[in-house]
Amino acid sequence: MPRENIAQRRIKRLFELADQVYVEHPDWARRYVDIARRISMRNREKIPTHLKRRICKGCKGYLKQGANCRIRVRQKREPHVTITCLDCGHITRIPIRRRKDAPQPD
Ligand SMILES: [Zn+2]
Repeated sequence: MPRENIAQRRIKRLFELADQVYVEHPDWARRYVDIARRISMRNREKIPTHLKRRICKGCKGYLKQGANCRIRVRQKREPHVTITCLDCGHITRIPIRRRKDAPQPD
């Protein structure tokens, strides 16, 4: 079993745990995310994009939808999603684009 797969699995598991404990123990959730980030750095293993979006880039806390973050779709200029951390106020913007690798009709 390759080493990086174990790191990946541990990262995923930590995010699952963070999600489960967030409501009762937001400080634990933050700690789990912290551990996941350490594993990622130590193993040079990227945190999957969908999980990375659950980390606030401002305070590095766990973002739980409907609890401590606000997700909105904006059409200004380019369509994008904004994720606002309600703990520190940091706003992450994710542009919405058409998939580049989608097969082109001819
Ligand atoms: Zn934050």
